[in-house]
Amino acid sequence: QSPRPKPLIAGNWKMNGLKASASEFGNIVAGYGAELRGKVDLAICPPATQLVPFAVVALGSRISIGGQDCHVKASGAHTGDISAEMIADTGATHVIVGHSERRTDHSETDAIVRSKTEAAWRADLVAILCIGETEAERRGGTTLAVVDTQLAGSIPDGATAANLVIAYEPVWAIGTGLTPSNADIAEVHGHIRQRLVARFGAEGARVRILYGGSVKPSNAGEILKIADVDGALVGGASLKAADFLGIAAAY
Ligand code: PGA
Repeated sequence: QSPRPKPLIAGNWKMNGLKASASEFGNIVAGYGAELRGKVDLAICPPATQLVPFAVVALGSRISIGGQDCHVKASGAHTGDISAEMIADTGATHVIVGHSERRTDHSETDAIVRSKTEAAWRADLVAILCIGETEAERRGGTTLAVVDTQLAGSIPDGATAANLVIAYEPVWAIGTGLTPSNADIAEVHGHIRQRLVARFGAEGARVRILYGGSVKPSNAGEILKIADVDGALVGGASLKAADFLGIAAAY
């Protein structure tokens, strides 16, 4: 068995954060001391309007900055869209693709998510690719089949441990305070790992698989202990430095 990858705790600020939020992000930077740096990697994905100021605040801190979505093209006539190249140009190094809110609100299919992942790689960004079943799919017993379809359809060829992070986020656990049982998380993460290894070999064994959905300081310790859980993608609890750092410290 290969050694576990260093965990990544990534914060997804979603559509939250104004200029004044830079000070809360500054508290995260200030709290990421030597001990925590030795244990976990941190990333924050602010709204696009805050990418530049956050990247400036993060300089020298080893906290990564990421976008929340990117267009498939590098530039052109796409009013309101932002390319992976533009995200990289701010100093960001990561981008979330295929979040369930994008899949739902913007009808993003696996094929689109795959193209966005390719766009991220073209701009040398690490793609944090989100997958996960709905409540109806969980109840119907099709979770593993849904995850298989999403993995096969949205990961391009050429994935490595350096360019891809998978985030398993059950849609029904996002922002609800509900989480799957530890056994259910273990089952899905183990299944994702098998699929990654089958397709990408040794690289697939080292791709980080994050759990996301209602992670908070009080449940992070036990979730992060589960086999093949290599970190967390955190929404609501990433907005406050104390909560986000509490999750990181729980590892
Ligand atoms: P949550 O969101 O932590 O607020 O449940 C997670 C996510 O959507 O990435």
